[in-house]
Amino acid sequence: MKRYNTLREVRSDIASGAISCVTLTQYYLDNIERKKHLNAYVEVYANEALAQAAIVDEKIKAGTAGKLAGMVVGLKDVLCHKGHGVQASSKILSGFISQFNGTAVQRLIDEDAIIIGRQNCDEFAMGSSNENSAFGPVLNEIDPTRVPGGSSGGTAVAVQADTCLVSLGSDTGGSVRQPAAFCGIVGFKPTYSRISRYGLLAYASSFDSIGIIARSIEDTALVLEVIAGSDDNDSTVSTTVVPEYSKSTPYTKKASVCYLKEALESPGVADDIKEVMRKQIASLQAKGHTVEPVAFPLLDYILPTYYILTTAEASSNLSRYDGVKYGYRSSNATDLLSLYTKTRSEGFGKEVKKRIMLGTFVLSAGFYDAYYTKAQKIRRLIKETTEGLLQQYDFVLTPTTTTTAFKIGDHSGDPISMYLADIFTVQANICGIPAISFPKGTDANGLPIGLQLMTRAFEEESLLTFTQSLLDD
Ligand code: GLN
Repeated sequence: MKRYNTLREVRSDIASGAISCVTLTQYYLDNIERKKHLNAYVEVYANEALAQAAIVDEKIKAGTAGKLAGMVVGLKDVLCHKGHGVQASSKILSGFISQFNGTAVQRLIDEDAIIIGRQNCDEFAMGSSNENSAFGPVLNEIDPTRVPGGSSGGTAVAVQADTCLVSLGSDTGGSVRQPAAFCGIVGFKPTYSRISRYGLLAYASSFDSIGIIARSIEDTALVLEVIAGSDDNDSTVSTTVVPEYSKSTPYTKKASVCYLKEALESPGVADDIKEVMRKQIASLQAKGHTVEPVAFPLLDYILPTYYILTTAEASSNLSRYDGVKYGYRSSNATDLLSLYTKTRSEGFGKEVKKRIMLGTFVLSAGFYDAYYTKAQKIRRLIKETTEGLLQQYDFVLTPTTTTTAFKIGDHSGDPISMYLADIFTVQANICGIPAISFPKGTDANGLPIGLQLMTRAFEEESLLTFTQSLLDD
């Protein structure tokens, strides 16, 4: 079977009788089996997906099918899917079954998407390489000695390796965009609050966003249109009207774009990535768009701000995993306190424990003002400065990452170098603005390079259409 890049192609082959939802789902299931060594899936719902595919085939014949009929999707292991396991790739949630569907998941189901499985990720979405999973690392299909990025590593590889058409991940600091860049596909994070977080396992609630990984902008637009919008179950979600992103007209305006000077000047950015940036800038200018460099001196403060605030929020969010209510419970406990401490010591992995402790530290009475309060102020400064830039320019262009996919183990002993993988992606989460990573060329080793565009809050429509115009180059 050919590799499908869009639901449109799938639907046209279903219409012509070349395939059915059942044969397509079986094709993806066979691919999952053949590519098991990549470790992208934690659990596969073979029988259920085939049964759902048969129902959708009937609906298509009857003309009653939803917008996503024929779309086979996967879910990062942080999204609640009723009656199915969900455990943020952590031992602490082993055996836990979702009691309800998250809103985004429910909306996919309501539009007849076929859910094929749940996907491996960094534990509690903390990581940039998918090496922090209780289920072991995920491998990048292009070069299995390399990481796929993280934390939505399984989610990205599942799409990269043609085991589903689209996947939902989560993006707190780049977890959808960075693995998409490492895997050569599209990764999209909307405005904070655009998509309900009901049924998304929390990492850092003021940063968390559900994101979409796909092979095309048009599928990204369609899925966004389905899952975005107000929700009684999430009081933080925006009630701003959801446009029909899938029906947007192509971008024809002359845009004004700025790019961060640091991206071309910093020795930390790989030469091949700088070269792709330069080519992209030249091609934008050739098309009549305005492109200008800007300095962003606050770049150095982005990661410290992110790691202070997210660890603080995580230490609070993850306090619920205490052995009483969910999943794993230590069998060595002798009293309530030892139940908590033993369960948490045995259940959480190293990176998660480190972040909980860091978060507890920055929130502790003696250090609160020095770290947490200061980071909140700097967050505001970064947000206002970025918003100021976006008053002047329609888009900010950066590389998505400073390097292409690195070797497994390369950064595992050095957290700072690992955290630097997200230097360009974290800004959008700090500011709550939409951002997308799109594939643009490869490096000398044939590894994919991703570029990132950010824009003003709730301007997803122009972000998607503008990105499409760059992919059409
Ligand atoms: N890599 C970043 C981190 O480790 C981002 C993770 C994410 O977006 N969930 O926190």
